[in-house]
Amino acid sequence: MPEIDLLKQIRSDWLQRAHQAISSGPQESDSSIPELERFFDLLEAAVSTGNSGALDPMLLEWSFSQTRPDLPSVTGVQIEWLGQLMAISFESAIKGLSETNALQLLRVLTGIFGKAMSRAAELDLQVKLAQTSNRLMQNQLDMKKLDHDKSDFIAISAHELRTPLTLIDGYASMLKESLEGVGLNSYQSMLLEGIQQGARRLHEIINDMIDASLIDNRILKLNYQPLWINQLISILEAETIPSINERQQQLEIVPFEGMSQMTYGDPDRLLQVLRNVLSNAVKFTPDGGNITLSGRKLPGFVEITISDSGIGIDPEYLLLIFDKFVRLGATALHSSSKIKFKGGGPGLGLHIAKGIIESHGGTIWAESPGFDELACPGSTFHIMVPIRTEPPDPKLAQLFAPLQESNGKTGN
Ligand code: ADP
Repeated sequence: MPEIDLLKQIRSDWLQRAHQAISSGPQESDSSIPELERFFDLLEAAVSTGNSGALDPMLLEWSFSQTRPDLPSVTGVQIEWLGQLMAISFESAIKGLSETNALQLLRVLTGIFGKAMSRAAELDLQVKLAQTSNRLMQNQLDMKKLDHDKSDFIAISAHELRTPLTLIDGYASMLKESLEGVGLNSYQSMLLEGIQQGARRLHEIINDMIDASLIDNRILKLNYQPLWINQLISILEAETIPSINERQQQLEIVPFEGMSQMTYGDPDRLLQVLRNVLSNAVKFTPDGGNITLSGRKLPGFVEITISDSGIGIDPEYLLLIFDKFVRLGATALHSSSKIKFKGGGPGLGLHIAKGIIESHGGTIWAESPGFDELACPGSTFHIMVPIRTEPPDPKLAQLFAPLQESNGKTGN
């Protein structure tokens, strides 16, 4: 007798046993009588066509229902359930058929259930993989939205703070002028100086917040002009000397090949990069420490390095420090200062430096043997400034063409 007819003979016994197994089984299953009947129909289809793939639609449904996010993970339950249904088929066949017929049917069913089990494992894995990657994608989208909201918040609050700050600045100046008329005593001038210094620092922080949001929204505009690296370094040196003196540190500028290089870039913004890195070197180096600015010429780039004999940076954080609002343990609790040892800041300086240098087509990175406030292993920041022979905007290139020609003649 064909196997399909044998299978049909055990249908009602099989359904009864399967239903009993569900009711007493440990697993939470949605399987009901109609569902079991559907499974048996598919089993019949598999036996009559000799193709275990007939069970696939049901296996797929099980995989989805078992990986529902609201249910606990039940990996393997599907396979266990298939094993149970196979055992039930064996029992029904042995009970309801002659020995020879039972053996004939079981030979076919063993093959079909075996294949169905490996298919179930495969489907289960595929569904779980798809779910995990969906969850990952969703997390990435959430993170992006969060970062975007943070940027918007920074931009709005920075603009909102500007107006009251300008008022404070204006009133402080007016107060100073009117008091100067009647003669300022030293206590009054100290108070006024305090207000003005605080307002200046707040201005700097607000400007940093605005710069960070320009960078994050990729709308930072660069004002390309011809510039000479050594001129930037001279300005930087002159600006930094007062803080270096206050902290009794030594700043050594080692001349290097490429120092007199001319390139096109935004001089104010590039100076801001160097200033942010150098002011960190001052802040994170103890009194009396050394800071060295050096560099070299590389194909297409001038590399500027700023090394210090400061507290160093844990290798784990060498990339993280370029993110927004990052202040490592050593500084997180210190009061805000641009000069004081380990003085705190908003954690935007390096993020801005990276944004500016990358907008120029360059890169910035840090190296340090590690963080140690006592041994002071130091840190080195590398800034790669691209050498441009003309500005990116063709109209500007035309404007600066005579300069190019005269450079060509003098061989610079
Ligand atoms: P901030 O504006 O607060 O100075 P930055 O973005 O400039 O922030 O720097 C982020 C953090 O990176 C600092 O708070 C500090 O922990 C660490 N860092 C930066 N430069 C140095 C350095 N030269 N030596 C040691 N740590 C540094």
